[in-house]
Amino acid sequence: MNKRLEGKVAVITGGAAGIGQAMAVRLASEGAHAIIADIASASGTEAMIREVGGIASSALVDASSPEAVKTFAGTLERCDILVNNAGIYPMTAFEDIRFDDWKRMFAINVDSQFLMAQAFVPGMKARRWGRIINLTSTTFWLKIASYVNYVSTKGANIGFTHALSAELGPFGITVNAIAPSLVRTATTEASELAGMFEALPAQLQSIPRLQVPEDLTGAVAFLASDDAAFITGQVIAVDGGMVRH
Ligand code: NAD
Repeated sequence: MNKRLEGKVAVITGGAAGIGQAMAVRLASEGAHAIIADIASASGTEAMIREVGGIASSALVDASSPEAVKTFAGTLERCDILVNNAGIYPMTAFEDIRFDDWKRMFAINVDSQFLMAQAFVPGMKARRWGRIINLTSTTFWLKIASYVNYVSTKGANIGFTHALSAELGPFGITVNAIAPSLVRTATTEASELAGMFEALPAQLQSIPRLQVPEDLTGAVAFLASDDAAFITGQVIAVDGGMVRH
C-alpha cells in the first residue's frame, strides 16, 4: 500500500471498534503510527495493524474527560493527524430524553472533539502541519425520528469543523469532517438501527447497499495526506450518494 503517511503520528479516538478501528488500520497501513484512544481495550485493533505490518499503540482514555485527555496528551511526543471518531448514538424520543442523557451525548460526541483538538493543536501549530478529521453524520440532513440529541451533536461537529478550519488554516492545519450513512458495526447491529439495514440504502442511497466501515477508510487516508493539503472546512459525505449539501 501507498506509504504517504510515513513518519506521521495519528490519534484515533474510539478506534477499538467499528469505523474508528477500520480507519486506524488504514492509516497505519499507509505508514502512520496509529495510537488508539478508547475507553475499551484496543488490543484487537493493534493486532489487526500488526498483521498489515503497521505500527500501533493504544491507551485507555475517556475522550470526554478533560483530565483524561490532558493526561493522555502528556504521554505523547506528537500528534500530526487527529481523527475525532468516538461517539454514541442511542435513539430516544424527544420527550424521553433526560437532561443528563443530553449532556452525556454532548460530552462524548462534541466535548471529546474540542478537548482532543485543544490538546494537540499547539504541537501541530509549532510544526506547521496538522490534520483534524471529525466524524459527523448524514442524519444531520435527514428526517429521522428519536434522534434530536444525536443530530444536535452531529450538527455541532459540523459547526466546529467550519469554525476551527478558519482559525487553523494559516498554520498548515486542515480541519474536515466525514459524514457516513448508516454503517454496519457491532453497535448498529445490536440497536434498532439494524431494522433499517435493508430499506435505508435501497430507498435513500444512489449506491443501494449497506455501508461498511471500510467504505470510509479511503476518505480518511486522503484527508490525512498531503494530497488534501488545500482542502479544509469541508464536510465530505461518504454515504453512497444519499445526501446533497
Ligand atoms: P462504535 O460503537 O462501533 O464504536 C465507537 C467506539 O468509541 C467504541 O470503541 C467505544 O468504546 C468508543 N467510545 C465510546 N465512548 C468513548 C469515550 N468517551 N472515549 C473514548 N472512546 C469512546 O461506533 P461507530 O458506529 O463506529 O461510530 C463511530 C463514529 O461514527 C461516531 O462518531 C458516530 O456518530 C459516527 N457515525 C456512525 C454511523 C453508523 O451508522 N455506525 C453513521 C454515521 C456516523
